Amino acid sequence: MTDAATSPLKLFNSLTRSLEVFQPVHPGEARVYSCGPTVYNYPHIGNMRAYVFADTLGRTLSYKGYKLTHVINITDVGHLTDDADAGEDKLEKAAAEKAQSIWDIARHYTEAYWADVKALNIRQPAHWSIATDYVPQMIEFAKAIADKHCYELESGLYFDTTTVADYGRLARHGTDEGESRIDPVDGKRHPADFAIWRKTPPGETRQMEWDSPWGRGAPGWHLECSVMSEALLGFPFDIHTGGIDHREIHHPNEIAQNQAHSCSDASGARFWMHNNFLVERSGKMSKSSGEFLRVQLLIDRGYHPLAYRLMCLQAHYRSELEFSWEGLGAALTRLKRLVMAAAPVRDAEPAEPADRRLTDLLGKFDAAMSDDLNTPVALTLLEEAAAMKKIDAGQKRATLAAMDAVLGLDLLTIERSDLRVRPKAATIAAEEIEAILVRRKEARAAKDFATSDELRDALIAAGVEVMDGDPLGWDWRLDN
Ligand code: AMP
Ligand code: ZN
Repeated sequence: MTDAATSPLKLFNSLTRSLEVFQPVHPGEARVYSCGPTVYNYPHIGNMRAYVFADTLGRTLSYKGYKLTHVINITDVGHLTDDADAGEDKLEKAAAEKAQSIWDIARHYTEAYWADVKALNIRQPAHWSIATDYVPQMIEFAKAIADKHCYELESGLYFDTTTVADYGRLARHGTDEGESRIDPVDGKRHPADFAIWRKTPPGETRQMEWDSPWGRGAPGWHLECSVMSEALLGFPFDIHTGGIDHREIHHPNEIAQNQAHSCSDASGARFWMHNNFLVERSGKMSKSSGEFLRVQLLIDRGYHPLAYRLMCLQAHYRSELEFSWEGLGAALTRLKRLVMAAAPVRDAEPAEPADRRLTDLLGKFDAAMSDDLNTPVALTLLEEAAAMKKIDAGQKRATLAAMDAVLGLDLLTIERSDLRVRPKAATIAAEEIEAILVRRKEARAAKDFATSDELRDALIAAGVEVMDGDPLGWDWRLDN
């Protein structure tokens, strides 16, 4: 922690719908659990916004001096096509459609997710907890709550949501409200009741199934997060994160299980935090839309993935963020300007910031991040620091490094040329473009504007846009 990190850290707690000062359960530590991906398909960039948010939270906690233990789970079993117990297991369905082993599918998409995590400079958590590694513990947890809180139906073991106090307080709904869209499971006592264990239907076999006191089958999705968070972080722990959709069903159900298991009203985590959605109006984010918006698609179109990280940081995590290619292009230009502004101090020997102008900025930066992770403001402060002239290079470097440790844009390690990603569909090589631009520069120097225009037209015909007159902007980019 720098001396500047002195503002009390306030975070928005979805449980109370208010800002609260962060007080750790264990002094000096911060234990965070983030609901991870269901690995039946590639994550879309909206899913990745949830992990950029969790990473920004984790980086902020580290910067504030807490010893961070972050867990992200990998859901490889139990998540049905409808969050509230209807439909099929997403992984079983994908395996049947692709005629592949479910284990191969889970491995493939877990690795694809990890590649996106790396591309977006999301730090590795202390643990990636894989749901199928915890099935025996899930069965033990279920056994402990079965008598008092569950009932058995032909299809499995169900949690009776009326057995815990104030069910749905996180979502602000009760046991019978807001559930009309859900296909009822035969025999469920209340629409909000949910599966703890799903039995394999008689005569069927599933690729993933285990023996349990309620028959052969698979755990319910909500169970895994209660079990893994307690196993790895203790009870209670500090912060549980997820997308805003989880505030409605998944997290209320985790809380109900936690109340039952702890024989108390404890929700399990002191803070429940939720990021708002990334939205895209034309439906390109839907995983059923063919070429949907994945990090790899952004790269294939020539956008460096950190431009997407910057795009996420430009919005507050609790605001909806609308995706557009223009917006992503603007974020890439902003990132290039930052990288260029930081370049002159990149190799300076870091020195403790003592200059008032820098310490003031660091103080403001700390106040912004401590105000429920106000990254839009923090980014402008980073830009102010990067633009500062006539200042000690070592101090400036240390200031940029301290801010970037929180924002994760890799400002002091990436180079401007790294940000120039060649689109997959490009028909012209970067070297050819550079060579034409050199000829064009010579023509302009010789005031031969006819040749200069001809060369520019040739580039446009090859899908290359050229930018003149802005030394901080891009020089050229491939149009797509
Ligand atoms: P899933 O793989 O469906 O379990 O989702 C992984 C994470 O992404 C969860 O925390 C979701 O709440 C979150 N999420 C899903 N869609 C979006 C979106 N469009 N924008 C932001 N977060 C999302
Ligand atoms: Zn979860």
